[in-house]
Amino acid sequence: MEKIVSLCKRRGFIFQASEIYGGLNGFFDYGPLGVEMRKNIKDAWWQDMVQRRDDIVGLDSAIIQHPKVWESSGHIQGFSDPMVDCRESKMRYRADQLFWAAVVVDGDILGYVSLLEDEGMEAKAAEMADTLKRKLQRQGTLQPIQLRPYTEASPDLYDKIPSPATGKPGTLTPPRDFNLMFQTYVGAVRDESSVAYLRPETAQGIFTNFKNVVDSTRVKIPFGIAQIGRSFRNEITPRNYIFRSREFEQMEMEFFIEPGDGWKQWHEYWIRERFEWHKSIGLKESMLGYQVHPKEKLAHYSQACTDITFHYPFGVQELEGIAARGCFDLTQHQNGSGKSMEYFDDTHKTKYIPRVIEPAVGVDRTFLALLCSAYEEDEIDGEPRVVLKLHPRIAPIKAAVFPLVKNKPELVEKAKTLFKKLQRRWNVAYDASGAIGRRYRRMDEVGTPFGITVDFETLENGTLTLRDRDTTKQVRLSEPELLAAIEKNLQQDL
Ligand code: ATP
Repeated sequence: MEKIVSLCKRRGFIFQASEIYGGLNGFFDYGPLGVEMRKNIKDAWWQDMVQRRDDIVGLDSAIIQHPKVWESSGHIQGFSDPMVDCRESKMRYRADQLFWAAVVVDGDILGYVSLLEDEGMEAKAAEMADTLKRKLQRQGTLQPIQLRPYTEASPDLYDKIPSPATGKPGTLTPPRDFNLMFQTYVGAVRDESSVAYLRPETAQGIFTNFKNVVDSTRVKIPFGIAQIGRSFRNEITPRNYIFRSREFEQMEMEFFIEPGDGWKQWHEYWIRERFEWHKSIGLKESMLGYQVHPKEKLAHYSQACTDITFHYPFGVQELEGIAARGCFDLTQHQNGSGKSMEYFDDTHKTKYIPRVIEPAVGVDRTFLALLCSAYEEDEIDGEPRVVLKLHPRIAPIKAAVFPLVKNKPELVEKAKTLFKKLQRRWNVAYDASGAIGRRYRRMDEVGTPFGITVDFETLENGTLTLRDRDTTKQVRLSEPELLAAIEKNLQQDL
């Protein structure tokens, strides 16, 4: 993870927001390469989910909506995470990410240990338990540690569980709900009547426009409405770089279907489709997985939910959620607004509120997964190299043009002309400084799939060398052959 974070800063993918002022926790800025790569991710999603499908249309709704939207959707009342404070250190934790266990020796409880959720927490907790046992000079057998989240601690334990910040018990508060929505005021008057919220998800803008889309287009159920846009959540503990931030971007699609048992097939269908999509943009299958939410953990309206997970350096985590939300959202908005959300099926002459399947994925989480999946270190001609093996569709720079030397005007001229020509089609780079090997490495490190070298032979017969990032193999081609080769590769999944 550290290597990826440092590469992102060094090469201009991601910067800390407001860095010169010390940064602002949970916010990030995307640099010149980052903005290209983000755009490529969003374009790929939009092309595959909207443009190339006959049954999905797009939407771009406002970030700030009428506060009643969030009342009806249940966000004002229930969009919260459990929070716990340490009174002494003033640290604040998400109660479901703070784990604790009793340290038990031969049936006696010696005390408790606590720590924050991470991949190696079981082993760490066992070590902490062993340390406590030794400190208390207690003989006997330590029972295996059973970690549980703080949300599952009974109230009599709040005083006994130590704070992860201080290691001492008695300073943690009981868990309480913390609403994640950012509040603001609309207009010049700042009172209760002007309170509004930055959207915590893009989905509600889709539901509130359901009727508008049905009435203004020729969509017929089953169909979907897709949207890409910024969302904001005042996360209690933003962490793991861009994985959990306070401002992020979502790519969400609501797929409307008729009532009945058919939702199961559609749910399966979208789980498969989305899994294949993640593979198609270059995520290694071995790093992807599924997590089916157990029935008892689902929201009351939810019929089923399956996450597509990714094995990030900090553990296996949700990349995308595919939820079967029933008719909850549309019904809530119908009740809240008094406007009918019914769909008229003119084939069967029936009216109903559609059911919905929602695949929702974060741009930033996809971005991080792509970097983790693509990052490799290898050796070329005995020299270590860092390479991002990004899919050509995702790579921020598609090709780089290198004049072999920079002090031969005809050669530079030729290289610049080719560069200008390529620029009309793709985001490409021009690099004339330093040894050619170093220039290749610079491009390998940011995932550029192709290097094009203009050399002395180019001046003689017009041929150029095309270097492949992954194999580092070079071939000599005429200009039309080279353009065709790049085009073919970039289009491979189109
Ligand atoms: P989590 O359980 O990790 O908080 P969630 O289940 O609340 O996520 P959803 O509401 O299902 O997330 O949002 C859909 C997608 O939006 C997630 O799968 C994720 O990719 C992205 N996402 C959600 N919250 C964040 C965040 N704080 N930072 C970055 N991406 C996020």
